Parts: sequence; C-alpha cells; structure tokens
Amino acid sequence: MDSIRSRDSIVHFEAKSYEALNIYLRETLPSSVFILTDSNTNQYCLPKLLSEMQAETIIEIIEIEPGEIHKTIDTCSGVWQTLAELGADRKSLMINLGGGVVTDLGGFVACTYKRGIPYINIPTTLLAMVDASVGGKTGVDLGNLKNMVGVISESEMVLVDTSYLDTLPANELRSGLAEMLKHGLIQDEAYWKKLSHLSHLTTDDLAQLIHDSVVIKNNIVFEDPTEQNVRKYLNFGHTLGHAIESYFLTHPTKITLLHGEAIAIGMIMEGYLSKTIGLSQEDYDEIKAVFSFWFPKVTISSDDIQPILDLLIFDKKNEGSTINFTLLHEIGSASYNCTVSDTVLREAIAYYQI
Ligand code: NAD
Repeated sequence: MDSIRSRDSIVHFEAKSYEALNIYLRETLPSSVFILTDSNTNQYCLPKLLSEMQAETIIEIIEIEPGEIHKTIDTCSGVWQTLAELGADRKSLMINLGGGVVTDLGGFVACTYKRGIPYINIPTTLLAMVDASVGGKTGVDLGNLKNMVGVISESEMVLVDTSYLDTLPANELRSGLAEMLKHGLIQDEAYWKKLSHLSHLTTDDLAQLIHDSVVIKNNIVFEDPTEQNVRKYLNFGHTLGHAIESYFLTHPTKITLLHGEAIAIGMIMEGYLSKTIGLSQEDYDEIKAVFSFWFPKVTISSDDIQPILDLLIFDKKNEGSTINFTLLHEIGSASYNCTVSDTVLREAIAYYQI
C-alpha cells in the first residue's frame, strides 16, 4: 500500500511502517526514545512494536491510564515530569502507541516539552488510524470541554499496522467506522456507498478502506492545515457530537459515549440540519439508517436539549456568538460556516429520538 505524504509528515502502512521507523531511527539517532502507551496498548501492542524496532539507544516506556477522562493537563504534567526525571532532551523522540487519547495527549506533550521534541504516532485503534493520528491536531480536554487546549503540529510520521486491531473491542471498532463514514459523507459518495454496504468489520476488509480514509483526510488537511477553510468539512457531526459527548461525560446517570458513538449521533442530527441547505429527504433517511444499523439509539429526552445547546457555545468553531456547522448539500459534498435557527436546532435533536 502506498505511503501518503502530507506537508510535514508521512503515513506508512503495514510492513513498510517498521522499515521506515528503523531507517528514521538510524538516520536521526535520537538521544533516547520514549514510548507512550496506556495500560491496554502496553499489554496488547507494545510487544509487537518492541520486536520490530531496531533502536541503538535507550528506550523508556511511559504508561498512562486509558480513556478520555485521563486526557487532561494533569496526565500531561505526569508525563512531562517523567520525561524530565528520565533526562529527556531536545534530541529525544517520543512515540505515541495508542488510540486517539494517547496520540492527542502524547503529541501535545511532545510539542510542548522543552518547546518541542519530535514525535511519531503509531495508532492502535481504528479511529486513531483513520483520523486522530493524522493531521497534527494535538491536545487535551479542559474539564468536560473537549480538546480545549492544544496545538497543531504534525508528527514526524504515522505508522499504520492494522494487526493492532485484532485485540480492539467491537464497540471501539465501530467508533472508528463513524469517522470513516464521515469521510465519505463530506467528500466521496462512492466511498460512503462502499462503507454503507458493510455488515461486519474484519481487519482484512478494513485495510484498504483505512488507506482510502487517510487519503481523504490527508487531502483536506494538506490544503488547509490550520482549519481556515476546507478543514472545517471534517467537523461534520462534531458540533453537536462534541456537545453530546461532553454532556454524557459529566452527567451523573448517563453512560459515557465513545467519541465515534457521540459523533454518529451528531451526524444524524446535523444530517437533519443539512436539509436546510438542500440535503434531500432520501439522502437523510439513508444516512440515518446506516448510522442506526451500527449505533444503538441512546436516550436523549426533551430535558437534555437545553443543556446540550448550552454546551454548543464552547465550540471552537464559533465566531462570537454564532454557532457554525458543517452541513451536507448531498452525500459527498459539504459546506462549512453554516448557521441554523434555534427552532431547527431543537427539532434536529428531538428528531433523533424518533
Ligand atoms: P482511546 O484512545 O481512548 O482508545 C479506546 C480504548 O481502546 C482505550 O481503552 C484503549 O486503551 C483501548 N485500545 C487502544 N488500542 C487497543 C488495541 N489495539 N487493543 C485493545 N485495546 C486497545 O480512544 P480513540 O477512540 O482511539 O480516540 C478518541 C480520541 O481521539 C478522542 O479524545 C478524540 O477527541 C480524539 N480525536 C482526535 C482527532 C484529531 O484530529 N487529533 C480526531 C478524532 C478524534
């Protein structure tokens, strides 16, 4: 599978990944290598990585707790502290081995430690392979506000080895599928159709589809790395999705939603909003049916609507008090900086439940 080059980074796939990593290590001779894992990737993924790596330098492992609730500045402080104690210098390399939590947080730690050390992402979840590890967005949450603190700075390279998916729980695989479906919806109808015909997820089927998804994301990020214009397409489903994810994260009786589960709900709701810019009822019904097949409905009652709307004001895409959405004209074609009335917004949230 061909490697995919971005402005300052490159994504390698499967066996080529470790060849590229070892060449990089030989050529750059880092003073030390720090591999950041969480407890799951330490157990399931680290042995394979260590068996493939040929590093003639000290390798240290730093482990964090798994899960979104640990994507915080406190966790970063612990990692910065450990790096300092272990003598990491500006020639050290950080390798983030994990899902989007590890790649987002590890990237942020690397970009800020001693004003920046190089880092490599090795995604181990489907979501991180197709989305989080690519494009240079790094950061952490601030309380229940998603990704409020961070920087955009690309990794040296991203290495996609789909064999890591073999130990990934089914709900986490589905979570990654949500971002792949989004790539089809905003940019490529044929890709959407291919994905929407899947009825189960196997690593073999996914390998080429993952490559296709990275191509779509990379083309967008290449054109607009700092989200001035077309990168906003990638936010489809995320304005309401992030608000719902935040709301569920801190609600005393609600389940915690995975990122992909939350944005799948966001895409159903923002699909509804898209009808205001011309999305046909037929396309909307198709979108709702595909997401409903993969993602069981969660309860969002009328009491939940206002608190979800209250969280929208924190969305990073807003300018002043205007809430900006990325919406679809049709499957495969999107527009950014769209606004909708409060009435339609409430209708979209309520319609999800029907
Ligand atoms: P995650 O990192 O929490 O991983 C999900 C779970 O799977 C964790 O428990 C993890 O320990 C476990 N895990 C990881 N790899 C495994 C493996 N191979 N086998 C068994 N278990 C494994 O979650 P995620 O869904 O990968 O990422 C979500 C995060 O990504 C969110 O914080 C989101 O904001 C972020 N994100 C970032 C971007 C970006 O552009 N930077 C884009 C999309 C999402």
